[in-house]
Amino acid sequence: MADDRFHVYDTTLRDGAQQEGLNLTVADKLSIARHLDSLGVGFIEGGWPGANPKDTEFFRRAQTELDLKHAQLAAFGATRRAGMKAADDPLVAALRESGAPVVTLVAKSHDRHVELALRTTLDENLAMIRDTVSHLKAEGQRVFLDAEHFFDGFASNPAYALEVLRTAAEAGADVIALCDTNGGMLPDELADVVYEAVQTSARVGIHCHDDTGCAVANTLAAVKAGATHVQGCANGYGERSGNANLFTVVANLQLKRGFDLVPSAALADMTRIAHAITEVTNVTPNSHAPYVGMSAFAHKAGLHASAIKVDPNLYQHIDPAAVGNDMRMLVSDMAGRASVELKGRELGYQLTPEISKELVDRVKDLEAKGYTFEAADASFELLLRDTLKGERRRHFEVESWRVIVERTKGGELVSEATVKLHAKGERIVATGEGNGPVNALDKAVRLGLEKLYPELAEVELIDFKVRILEGTHGTDAVTRVLITTSDATGEWATVGVDENIIDASWQALEQAVTYGLLRAGREP
Ligand SMILES: [Zn+2]
Repeated sequence: MADDRFHVYDTTLRDGAQQEGLNLTVADKLSIARHLDSLGVGFIEGGWPGANPKDTEFFRRAQTELDLKHAQLAAFGATRRAGMKAADDPLVAALRESGAPVVTLVAKSHDRHVELALRTTLDENLAMIRDTVSHLKAEGQRVFLDAEHFFDGFASNPAYALEVLRTAAEAGADVIALCDTNGGMLPDELADVVYEAVQTSARVGIHCHDDTGCAVANTLAAVKAGATHVQGCANGYGERSGNANLFTVVANLQLKRGFDLVPSAALADMTRIAHAITEVTNVTPNSHAPYVGMSAFAHKAGLHASAIKVDPNLYQHIDPAAVGNDMRMLVSDMAGRASVELKGRELGYQLTPEISKELVDRVKDLEAKGYTFEAADASFELLLRDTLKGERRRHFEVESWRVIVERTKGGELVSEATVKLHAKGERIVATGEGNGPVNALDKAVRLGLEKLYPELAEVELIDFKVRILEGTHGTDAVTRVLITTSDATGEWATVGVDENIIDASWQALEQAVTYGLLRAGREP
């Protein structure tokens, strides 16, 4: 178990799940919990048992299906209702019976919320906190308290906000997390309030929302002011602008402030974990996310590239390997030979100056026609291989292809594609049907080649982007198609450009299949 002196507390499964469009099944939650545990967080808040049947089921299944190595599960719930005993409140009973070693109680700390939302007296609110904390504690659970709207409450009635803190601590709550529930705070003023709270001698934690774009900065400021428990969500998930991104918080504290929060090997796996969680949530990963984003260590300008070749540390704030990310060079017409050489080296090729020059010329020429290699690493690598070998070698040659789009009498649109290919001395004719022309072509190609290359069964087209590029210098507008393809171990992107959208798609598709075969170890 993690060191108890400083807590990394994840609330993805409860607060993060409030994000618009996020809908997690119990199986999804179990899977995310495993990923978070592999990162080494100390606490995983699983949800609100009793109030939400899915969360009750999560805690039930977690007992047999989760084998957590680092983390402890926390059940979230409210203090008892006004005017009854904690021991008699069915919602408190659900927390008791959740099987979670930790209960995090949410309580009001803003006087006006007590009166207007809870509709009870300030004294009764304190009694509810005292009674619920001491009851659960006596029943053998560790209790944390989320002081809701703490910062707004402190502004409205500081004496009462601090009284909530003292009451919870005296009743036996181990941590009182101060919540910036509305997310409106800025780091300097937040730090002042945290400092005041720390003076009560209660152990203070911090829970921030990102409505001012300062959730991570606020969390760090709170730690500096004495908080020893940080809450956040994977990938910054959460309602409105999200919660503090736990990955950014952990990386900052560990790499910049010297905290020993998670094992270094786990931190070095953080980029993979962050992306694995996006697979479960089905939320497109933010490529600009600090530390773990695809672009977090990507460089574009040619001037940078030549210096990076000399010393990569001149242009990056940490070694990307510390968080499992990579320095990536974007191949673009802004970049010169240095970045092409570097990109080649990143891909595992040693390029002579002559080859680099030829490659730069080809890239510039193609980019002038509308290609982009920044987002199409696989196309760049194919171009590089062709340049190195001085010829274009492929696993299959294309004789012809054809695609028909038909609107049936019933109003349904169906596409049918026929491809004629030559591979391993065979002539292959294959037909595929799909919901669109590109889908049909993709199916036809893979159907035709699968007998010769069974590994293509694993290859799948996962994303398709189309952009119309304005014509320049009297040329017509062209269409650029970017295709992302995946197999069991990763994904790659290819690009095609043509005046005709189907032909542009075909180019990207052909490269996608070729690259997939190279990944599988098939040399043409
Ligand atoms: Zn929250």
